[in-house]
Amino acid sequence: MPMPAAGCGEIRESLGVYVVGALEPDEEAPIRAHLLRCPACRSERDDLARVVRLLRTALLIRAAAAYRAPIPRPRPAVSAVAPHQHPRRDGRRQEGGQL
Ligand SMILES: [Zn+2]
Repeated sequence: MPMPAAGCGEIRESLGVYVVGALEPDEEAPIRAHLLRCPACRSERDDLARVVRLLRTALLIRAAAAYRAPIPRPRPAVSAVAPHQHPRRDGRRQEGGQL
């Protein structure tokens, strides 16, 4: 395991956000520069990237499973009522409906 270099603490705090690509470009620059000369933080970055990939894969699998799940059926209490049992709202029969 490589020894952390000076300034690693600050870099490590931002590494998670860096790995998910949520930093502004001007915030990324010092982290990139540090990673170039610090094998310990590069190793940490690689570990975090692996975790992020696993999480994204897990979320995709869950989303796909939810997409394939059957649509819940309507409750019998609602669907058992026959349509002709509903009285017309205006109480009149509609004749010659075409104008
Ligand atoms: Zn470092």
